[in-house]
Amino acid sequence: MPAPPRFRSLWRVRTYVRPYLGQMVLMIVTAFVGIGAGILVPIMTKAVIDGPVASGERSRLLPLGLLALLFGVIEAFLAFVRRWVQSYAALGIESTIRNDLYAHLQRLPVAFHDKWQTGQLLSRATTDLGVLRRFLGFGLVFLITNIATFLTIVALLVNLYWPLGLVVMASALPLMWLSASFEREYAEVSRRVQDEQGDLATHVEEAATGIRVVKAFGRRRLVLEQYETRARSLHDSAMASVGLRAKFWSLLDVIPNLTLGTVLLFGALAVGRGDLTVGGLVAFMSLMLYLVWPIEALGWILATAQEASTAADRLYEVLDTVPSIADRPGVVALAPESVRGALVFEGVSFAYEGTAEPVLRDVRLSIEPGETVALVGATGSGKTTLASLVPRLYDVTGGRITLDGTDVRDVTLESLRRVVATAFEEPILFSASVRENLLLGTPGASDEDVAEALALAQAEFVHDLPFGLDTRVGEQGLSLSGGQRQRLALARAVIGKPRVLVLDDPLSALDVHTEALVEEALSRVLRGTTGLVVVHRPSTIALADRVAFLENGTITAVGTHSELLATHPSYRSILSAASEPVPEPEPAGRPSGGEP
Ligand code: ADP
Repeated sequence: MPAPPRFRSLWRVRTYVRPYLGQMVLMIVTAFVGIGAGILVPIMTKAVIDGPVASGERSRLLPLGLLALLFGVIEAFLAFVRRWVQSYAALGIESTIRNDLYAHLQRLPVAFHDKWQTGQLLSRATTDLGVLRRFLGFGLVFLITNIATFLTIVALLVNLYWPLGLVVMASALPLMWLSASFEREYAEVSRRVQDEQGDLATHVEEAATGIRVVKAFGRRRLVLEQYETRARSLHDSAMASVGLRAKFWSLLDVIPNLTLGTVLLFGALAVGRGDLTVGGLVAFMSLMLYLVWPIEALGWILATAQEASTAADRLYEVLDTVPSIADRPGVVALAPESVRGALVFEGVSFAYEGTAEPVLRDVRLSIEPGETVALVGATGSGKTTLASLVPRLYDVTGGRITLDGTDVRDVTLESLRRVVATAFEEPILFSASVRENLLLGTPGASDEDVAEALALAQAEFVHDLPFGLDTRVGEQGLSLSGGQRQRLALARAVIGKPRVLVLDDPLSALDVHTEALVEEALSRVLRGTTGLVVVHRPSTIALADRVAFLENGTITAVGTHSELLATHPSYRSILSAASEPVPEPEPAGRPSGGEP
């Protein structure tokens, strides 16, 4: 991805800052007043030394001392207000951006997630946003106040004793040059660190979700080695960034200290000559000490600014991705009650983004309302792909899919997905209760609907779970067997009595006994709806009225199971490769058995 001009993305973040403009201004004002109160202390010191101390007038000491105390208290109070306001604003901005990012990720199509690693998204939503928050909450405020402090103090110094004031002013030149060269180098390093954090997060995430495979194949060591390689690379980049910062910060340190030495030397000479009072020199030195921190902090601020700029670049890379699957202007919502359920593929072709070879070519298939068609084909022939085109997880790249004669792209996505229910081969359950998982697609479903769906999918085992429907399942919950997960996913799909049901090998993880039960239940559900069922096991074919045979991305035959068995030897050989007996009294089609 080409890097945008530096700080451009960071500048775009201002749209998020705008609602908090009042707080940001308050933050800067309190910082200024606080610093002002702090600066007054050395000036008071001068007044005390040159006044009561020099003249021995004790009576004026108390009021001046109390005044200095008051300034100290004001400074502390304002620091408290500033911290509070800035946390409020910075956290508010952070959570608004995160909400936007999350909402955007939900809008982006499956194809986006094919390309983006989860860890990269995770690190953008957490680490990068944290970096941005630190910059907006602290970096930006101190950038402004420190520059202003520098200018104010230099003006006061010039006013106190101009020759030395000019020396201090001149020290800004090496400072600026140093900062600019640091920024240039740091931009590259900080981008590398942040990208590598995303890579590492991806690795950890995959190792955690794939822990069973890792262990089963005895690849613990390999995964650990891969982790170590990535971690080492991140460590090296982070060390490079620390090295750069350390170099810059120590150089930054040198400048005020050198200036301080120069001022002390020439200041003492000036006092000797009578050009400067002792109190004046003390005030000068105290004011200068007040400059040391803003100058040293500049290193931290510039590093934060650069990291924030990188973070903003990384965030906008996601936020700027236009959802390729979205409602076209002027589309209407499907009314679920009036849908008959005629599903037609009209010369559909499809290629995955970035691949030249189409996966599907000129697919023609017409499914009558209420009819069930089984999709049979060799592994990799495009069955899953074809199934995912119906709910528009991907959009066709040629031809069209119509529902009751209307292109699926001409109705709202939300209503389409309400009418078309899906259950995929890998049933994903979320870390939530069974009920929440079931109601994912139909939040308004009644208890009767839930009970009916559970009965239909033979998933009544949930009532025996420790807390019934309220048992937490999924990643952080109770582990369910593959067959249990599939039955829950099936129940979830049939809960709203969808007009169109797309099932991708929904029975693959069921044992023979449960399979028979679910099959019987499914045949009842499918009776009322239009069904497209991807079939890997011959026994499931019994559910279908007709079979469509997919070869190399195109449908080469449509007919009943016995017709295809009789006319298509390749159909027969694909089914024989599967393990289950075909529930048809067709001796020629009987596979010899055995696990694949
Ligand atoms: P089937 O379900 O019949 O086994 P698929 O529809 O899963 O077949 O896959 C068809 C082809 O598309 C395969 O060659 C597969 O490698 C490719 N494919 C599947 N998913 C993707 C994807 N997300 N990106 C790119 N290619 C893919």
